[in-house]
Amino acid sequence: MELKGSCHCEKVKFSVTSHTPCPFMRCYCSICRKCQGGGGFAINIMGLHKTLKVEQGSEYLKGYRALRDKKSGELCGNIRYFCSECCHLYAYCEEYADLVYPMACAIDTPLPAVDYDDIYHIMLNKDSKANWAIAPEPNPKKHAYSEYPDISLEEWHKHNNRLA
Ligand SMILES: [Zn+2]
Ligand SMILES: [Zn+2]
Repeated sequence: MELKGSCHCEKVKFSVTSHTPCPFMRCYCSICRKCQGGGGFAINIMGLHKTLKVEQGSEYLKGYRALRDKKSGELCGNIRYFCSECCHLYAYCEEYADLVYPMACAIDTPLPAVDYDDIYHIMLNKDSKANWAIAPEPNPKKHAYSEYPDISLEEWHKHNNRLA
């Protein structure tokens, strides 16, 4: 499906095609929380990078590469793109150059709803999750993971018959 997205101040508008539009994965890690996520987590969906069109306001786009490990200086593979006036829009990683990861909240097209029982919770380890963020205890049987899940965004959509 084609998704339309924008930032809050509406200077930046973009569109992207996504076969995987269900916002099912909540990441509680410190980077996601700081960059976006007043509830203690952030949700990305996935689209096809070659279909990403910044239709307006590309001059306002700003990329940010987070430090993954303060000790080693290792940078995060993701570049997070923001509207320099307001908010986070999407992330892109060269390692997965065919894909782009819009923030669910940046998308204006109505996204398919996901039942709570099908939601995945990731990066729940105590160094990542905020102590105040309300989340299930890690338990892979309940889709709650200390770190990464055992399923990709695409596999989840296939498994749940939700490919768009
Ligand atoms: Zn903006
Ligand atoms: Zn994260």
